[in-house]
Amino acid sequence: MPHINKIELRGFKSFGNAKVTVPLSRGLTAIVGPNGMGKSNIIDALCFVLGWMSAKTMRAERFSDLLFNGGNGGRPASFAEVSLYFDNSDGGLQINSKEVIITRQLHRDGTCTYRINHRRATREEIIDLLAPKMTCPGGYNFVLQGEVNRFFNMDPVERRRIIDDLAGVAEYDEKKQKSLNELQKVEANLKNVEAVLAEISGQMENLRGQMETAIYFKQLKREHEQIQGALLLIKKKKCSGAIEQLDAKISKLTGEIEELKKRHQKTLEEKDKLNAKIDGISKSIDEKRASEVLVEAERARTEINTLNDILKRTSERKLALDQEIELLAEKIKKISDSRTTDGETLESMVFKFNDARNKFLELYRSLVKCESLSSAKNILKQISEVLNEISGIMEKISDGVDPQKIKQIDSARADERKLREEMAGLQRTRNELARQMKELSMKIQEVKVKLKAADYQEKEIRNSIESLASERNALRQKLESITKRERELETRIRNMEGDLQRLQIQRDALNNELKEINTNLKKVGEVNLPKNVDAEALEKRAQQIEAELGTLSERVNFRAVQDFRESQRRYNEEKMKHDKLIAEKQSLLSFMAEIDEKKKQVFMKTFDEISKQFTQIFKQLSPKGDAMLKLENEESPFEGGLEIIARPEGSGAAYIGSLSGGQKALTALAFIFALQRYRPSTFYVLDEIDAHLDPKNRTKVAEMLRQFSRDSQIVVVTLHDSIMSVADRLFGVTKENGISRIYSVELSGVGS
Ligand code: ATP
Ligand code: MG
Repeated sequence: MPHINKIELRGFKSFGNAKVTVPLSRGLTAIVGPNGMGKSNIIDALCFVLGWMSAKTMRAERFSDLLFNGGNGGRPASFAEVSLYFDNSDGGLQINSKEVIITRQLHRDGTCTYRINHRRATREEIIDLLAPKMTCPGGYNFVLQGEVNRFFNMDPVERRRIIDDLAGVAEYDEKKQKSLNELQKVEANLKNVEAVLAEISGQMENLRGQMETAIYFKQLKREHEQIQGALLLIKKKKCSGAIEQLDAKISKLTGEIEELKKRHQKTLEEKDKLNAKIDGISKSIDEKRASEVLVEAERARTEINTLNDILKRTSERKLALDQEIELLAEKIKKISDSRTTDGETLESMVFKFNDARNKFLELYRSLVKCESLSSAKNILKQISEVLNEISGIMEKISDGVDPQKIKQIDSARADERKLREEMAGLQRTRNELARQMKELSMKIQEVKVKLKAADYQEKEIRNSIESLASERNALRQKLESITKRERELETRIRNMEGDLQRLQIQRDALNNELKEINTNLKKVGEVNLPKNVDAEALEKRAQQIEAELGTLSERVNFRAVQDFRESQRRYNEEKMKHDKLIAEKQSLLSFMAEIDEKKKQVFMKTFDEISKQFTQIFKQLSPKGDAMLKLENEESPFEGGLEIIARPEGSGAAYIGSLSGGQKALTALAFIFALQRYRPSTFYVLDEIDAHLDPKNRTKVAEMLRQFSRDSQIVVVTLHDSIMSVADRLFGVTKENGISRIYSVELSGVGS
């Protein structure tokens, strides 16, 4: 067990500038002396060298107050230095040296330096070196003057922390803190990931509707395409059927046209043959018509006609002359009659007679030539009249003439002569005409005779012509009918060709339509044509879809699906992170729960032990009393503090505040000793812990200190004999000129 052999002080508080050595015993060292001599300053020096950091705990306002202030006119220290000399012969301190000197130096500027065996060291090095075996700053093994009740004045939680320290829960706290730090990080990450997830969820929620619309839009489009495809297939079927029908029609019609064309060709050939025949007949007819007989006969007929015309005109002229003559004859007759009446001469009568006779002759000739009965009858009538006239004239001649009237008759005769001359002239002309007529008639007769002579031949020719003409007519009729047929055929062929062309156009149009349908079908891709498909229903559905697509297209976001998937991908990524973090958090939480559990177990074990020791020690100090330690929260000890419950001898009250100063000191010492028992420290400093104890209790406490000093080095400041009597070493502190001095006290006289 390492222990302090001595303390060396220089410039520290009341100990002056010279080096002062405070020898310490291995067991119990008691420091004695009157008030104000500097006993507690030695305790402060111990605290100082062990690295305490608060000037106040060393009862100084500032660190510089720890420097010797000169006392009664002395020189104030420029620095203070305290050294502890450890006996490390058993190697208890983890340093390879039998003696270990720990030094702390304080300078006036407030700066401190530490040394281990004169080597500069850090405060941490010193604490690390001493803490496992001895003490650490503020440790419960230091009970400063007046602080014996510190455990009562403590906050219960602070009190519980003493158990925490002893149980070493700090290790768990550290682990837990680490886990907590990690947990905080995880939670911070989790929070970030959750924020990201919330943001992505929001985006996804936003996009979901848009995506559904886009998907629905695409479905509608696909359905529309399928319907279009189905309609195209229906159309294709219809179109193919129509093309087949048309092809059949075209083929049939082409055959029919071919047939008709053959027939037409035949008709044309027939026609040509007929035309050739007709031409041949026409040629024969023309040849026959051009034969001399017919030409002559025709010429004769023309001549006859011409002669007849002349004859007719001559006859008319003659007739006119006859009428003129008649008028003249009447005039003459009148004159003659008047002469006859008044004595018409025989001569005149003779004249009259001659005229009548000439007339008769002429009529007779006409009668002879007459060819028809009616004209003969007419002529005979005229002849009868002429004969009557002649008969009248003959009567008159027989009656004779009136002489009275001869004069008148003469005059009349002169007129009559004149008229007669005139009439004679006319008659000559008429006669000439009659002669001409006769000539003409003769001529006509001659020609007629000639004509008659050629009559048989002409008739033959004419019959032949007629028969040829009739044959030609028959052929012409046949030709006409053939031509009609040919035209009909031509018309039919034309019409049929027109029909054929129309059919071909229709077929071409259908072929084009079919091509277009096939192209469109390729675009649509595979089409599942439902059975019993109703084109009308499909059209209706397509229209519905088009209307719906039209409405949707204004608000559809085609990127929504992609964006949604991207968001989903990001969401899944983040979700994986999130789940990982949750798992991490869970594992940290369970690890922490485990730590808490272990911590509680360790704590409870420590607590139970200390509590047991406390009760036992208290019982030793106060056999008729009893005390216990109680956790405020037994279930969760770390959520509550530690209560000290004590019923010292002769005290009924358990309330700690109601205990006397001595009772409190006794209970506190029992608590300190319980802690010592549980984890013995190698070094204890107790400054006037016996201040409030009565002699009986001081003796009990002294006895207990004596027992403890077997295992630990104890430095006690006391003013009472009880402890002095059990001390291994005793020295006093006095003052000379304001400077504390150490002097050894012989133990022989103490405690007796
Ligand atoms: P008590 O028995 O009353 O407890 P004590 O022996 O413990 O007395 P200390 O408290 O150790 O006495 O010493 C107090 C004395 O030390 C005071 O008289 C004080 O003037 C003196 N002192 C304190 N600080 C200094 C200092 N920096 N320089 C000189 N003397 C000092
Ligand atoms: Mg004191």
